Amino acid sequence: MSFYGGYYSYTSVADKQRKAQKYIQKMKKSGIVLHPIEENSKPGSTWWGKAWNQNMTRYADLENRVSRGHSYVRNGFVLDMTIEKGVVKALVAGSSSTPYSVKVLFDVLTESELRKVNEICGQRIDSLEDLIFGRFPKDLGESFLDLLFPSPSAIHFSCSCPDSAYMCKHIAAVIYGIGVRLDEDPLLLFSLRGIDSATLIRSSLESRTKTLLANASKPSDRILDQSEVSKLFGL
Ligand SMILES: [Zn+2]
Repeated sequence: MSFYGGYYSYTSVADKQRKAQKYIQKMKKSGIVLHPIEENSKPGSTWWGKAWNQNMTRYADLENRVSRGHSYVRNGFVLDMTIEKGVVKALVAGSSSTPYSVKVLFDVLTESELRKVNEICGQRIDSLEDLIFGRFPKDLGESFLDLLFPSPSAIHFSCSCPDSAYMCKHIAAVIYGIGVRLDEDPLLLFSLRGIDSATLIRSSLESRTKTLLANASKPSDRILDQSEVSKLFGL
């Protein structure tokens, strides 16, 4: 059975956009702030957005469905999306006058996995900048990313639409939209998996400070010792 097998009346893109606009105006009047995924957004402008796309292609089954989410994001149908610890909540425009409510739950990391991520970030990654730009030591690569990016069994979906398919187009749009959000703020992936950004930044800074201090204590030919200073001034 096709997900789009003609069970529901067809609503054109323009119709959905009209309904979406009406809803956005209504929320504005009620003072509710929405966090939409901008129209025509495409994940992949940064290392993390690209990695998110790639992660999805690891699971062929999921990837085919996620690609359908692209047109929804392109049309600006993801009207609201927030990412918190273990959960992505979103409102996606569809054929109904009220947007569908989508939830994507992510298993958070176990205590030992969390320790491992913090250790790696503190000891193997030189700075927060390196983390944000995806500059990892080569040997770290996959095992680190396997920890961070969820396996298919660690993701759980729900949508309020009448389509009971495991992954409807609204959920696909949200999965696709997560990549766009990661381009804007890669640390969201850490929050999503239950990793506290503040702890992460602290361990990264502590490690950076240690490296700086270690380098500072090394003898350097640019620093003259006392006897050389004396010689220089003829003392
Ligand atoms: Zn749906």
